[in-house]
Amino acid sequence: MWIDTHCHLDAGEFAGEYDAVAESAARHGVSKIVIPAVGRGNFATVAALASRNAGCCYALGIHPLFVPQAGDDDLQALRMAVQAALADPCFVAVGEIGLDFFVPALRETALREKQERFYAEQLKIARDHGLPVLLHVRRSQDIILKYLRRIGVPGGIAHAFNGSFQQAGEFIRLGFRLGFGGAMTFTRARQIRRLAAELPEQALVLETDAPDIAPAWIHPQRNSPEQLPRIGEVLAQLRHMPVDAIAQLTSDNARSILPRLAMLA
Ligand SMILES: [Zn+2]
Repeated sequence: MWIDTHCHLDAGEFAGEYDAVAESAARHGVSKIVIPAVGRGNFATVAALASRNAGCCYALGIHPLFVPQAGDDDLQALRMAVQAALADPCFVAVGEIGLDFFVPALRETALREKQERFYAEQLKIARDHGLPVLLHVRRSQDIILKYLRRIGVPGGIAHAFNGSFQQAGEFIRLGFRLGFGGAMTFTRARQIRRLAAELPEQALVLETDAPDIAPAWIHPQRNSPEQLPRIGEVLAQLRHMPVDAIAQLTSDNARSILPRLAMLA
């Protein structure tokens, strides 16, 4: 059985077939799917998807790409939503949060500062509730790490990890797992494949990031969580391990970093 630690199942690309996509993933051996929120507008949607699809769970947070249009009232709404969601077994983490300095508009001073403030405030919400975080890290590894050292959260996942070995080591030291997915399936992605092959095995979790980051064999079509086992096979090849050992390892790692997910049947 496999765990997809990052899938935007509520995305418009899946309109009209949300439940069918979740069911198909389950038939392909994906026993759990973590659905992160991107902003206040989809908190209820991700929670509803998780409640009606066995094996789905969710996180609540404001994604860096949605920070420009968010206000301080959204942070307040998030804090209240997180507090309320603690009573919901399907709620597992704060996310997706982080910093995106790849998108040019988001790099300008005012938005850069706003992103950092929203990221820090959301780390505090996670810390205050003892929750792990799901991190979006694009061209921002070192600043992401700086805040993690300052605001101690109980670990989490750096999703779609694409940093250096040194940065990976620092995430691991801070109690984080690193998410690997479709990017690893491209032979030209040398650095990501080297990381996937050589990082300590306790650090690895799998994800699809569907509908984005389609693996090589379906790129550029829509990605979906049923691709996770084949992505896992690539990791097994890279690490010269049996596929079922990779499934077990990455699922154990996901459960240990997301304790509320581990409590789900
Ligand atoms: Zn995401």
